[in-house]
Amino acid sequence: MRYLIAAVLTVTLMVPVTASADEVVVYSARKEHLIKPLFDRFSNETGVEVRYITDKAGPLLQRLKAEGKRTPADVLMTVDAGNLWHAADSGVLAAVDSAVLAANVPANLRDPQGRWFGLSERARTIVYSTERVKPAELTSYEDLASPAWKGRLCLRTSKKVYNQSLVATMIARHGEQKTEEIVRGWVANLAAAPFSNDTKTMEAVAAGQCDVAIVNTYYFGRLQKKDPDIKLALFWPNQDGNGVHINVSGAGVTKHAKNPDAARKLLEWLSSEAAQGDFAGLNMEYPVNPKVARDPLVASWGDFKADALNVNEAGRLQADAIRLMDRAGYR
Ligand code: FE
Repeated sequence: MRYLIAAVLTVTLMVPVTASADEVVVYSARKEHLIKPLFDRFSNETGVEVRYITDKAGPLLQRLKAEGKRTPADVLMTVDAGNLWHAADSGVLAAVDSAVLAANVPANLRDPQGRWFGLSERARTIVYSTERVKPAELTSYEDLASPAWKGRLCLRTSKKVYNQSLVATMIARHGEQKTEEIVRGWVANLAAAPFSNDTKTMEAVAAGQCDVAIVNTYYFGRLQKKDPDIKLALFWPNQDGNGVHINVSGAGVTKHAKNPDAARKLLEWLSSEAAQGDFAGLNMEYPVNPKVARDPLVASWGDFKADALNVNEAGRLQADAIRLMDRAGYR
């Protein structure tokens, strides 16, 4: 009996040490310079320390899975709904019931089961040469498959999750057969082999190698900051239809979090009016919290109708999208 009491006491006393409530550990696929200023502010305001490691989305998820119950991570932060969906599907995220997150994050930008929440929004849209294309010539993603764009289209590789998510949402809208026809049309119109990243893709348009491309808005913002006179502009497609393809960066509380309450508080704070301007603005993205204003450069690109489909669909149909792009010869 004496031993039992001693054991219970030890366990009780150990709790504050092993599960210190004033620390959150984050595994982040979002780069350090985009998160550190926010984590520092959170720590100053709440007294909760944030420790983090950064890596690519794939390795972080593998690590979480391999660590299982032993993981030190309380939060997984990553980019693209496809990756967030995959993490949730792998069982490494816990469902979080938070009225704050439900109020701050629109329903189409979070997991219906509360396992992840979008924290910034980006559009994957059309960029065109202002020297060789008139915006009136552009209408939709689908139209980039038409013969009018033969030899004039540049795309990033289909290996990138951003394009997998775009094609996945097209499958959700059009079904596989029609989507495959469209992707085949894109491939037939390519002016060059697919590029390794969005910036190289846009630079090819600027250099005259092609006239149009599909890219994430914040990469355009980076290029515009570097060269304000670059002869490129964004076009908002599908405005008479489903709207522009959007995606998120986001985060979830891990299933084996040692500090789930502090982890939830961090996510709530990141979605708040106090943090959203910086969280989105540092990467020239759109705040998910509708009460928060856009960065002036982002606002200068104008308003658009965004696709209201839950971004979760991008994950659900990701494997189908990968197979479809492979069949269509999109490398
Ligand atoms: Fe990116």
